[in-house]
Amino acid sequence: MVKSMSSPIAQPPTAGGMSSRMVAVDVYGYLAAAILRNEIPPASRVNINAVAVSLGVSATPVREALARLESDGLVTQLHLKGYRTTELLNQREIRELWQFRMLIEPYSAGNAATLATPAQLEALQHEIDSFASAPVGSDFDSYQDFSAHDARLHALILAASGNDVITRAFERTHCHLHAFRLAYTGSAGRATVDEHAAIVDHIVSRDTAGAGAAMMTHLAHSRDRLLPLAKQG
Ligand SMILES: [Zn+2]
Repeated sequence: MVKSMSSPIAQPPTAGGMSSRMVAVDVYGYLAAAILRNEIPPASRVNINAVAVSLGVSATPVREALARLESDGLVTQLHLKGYRTTELLNQREIRELWQFRMLIEPYSAGNAATLATPAQLEALQHEIDSFASAPVGSDFDSYQDFSAHDARLHALILAASGNDVITRAFERTHCHLHAFRLAYTGSAGRATVDEHAAIVDHIVSRDTAGAGAAMMTHLAHSRDRLLPLAKQG
């Protein structure tokens, strides 16, 4: 089962090892899930051979998965010593990441209000409607669904704003993965869902200034929801 980055969780592999065709994707998904659930704690060594043995695969797909996790910012390579999971974002890193988001996402939401095609407006409204009555729990699966919804909504707005350079810069931050590691034990809250609905209302009514302002408000609130969960830095 191939999972996108907005939903990086795979089921643990079945006993007896995995087919070679599925190995790379599943090892990645398995390790990503273990890191996001903090089953492999922050700043911990990842023993390549131990992972390979426990999954019934060779070291090669484990190394490939770790290289991909490094580009996600979930592990770093240690010189001649394998890999280590990264620390959770501290408060300074959250502030800096959200400052970047506050530069590009209100601007993009305003552009989306101006430029979105009817199909893009429909996709945005569908994303809001699909989550409007969904339960928002604090368990891992609920939070995974919520985080995936949040990632999809922000990606749809960026796509509708029509600037691929900005979209790629946003994707490279992997902000949803990092927020997920910090926040999944906390309640996601209906506040986020309401803030998203306000942004989309402004985009659908072609209100450029209102869409930008609503996105700025949402980002300020989401930053303030995360900061108390992070270490000082
Ligand atoms: Zn959001």
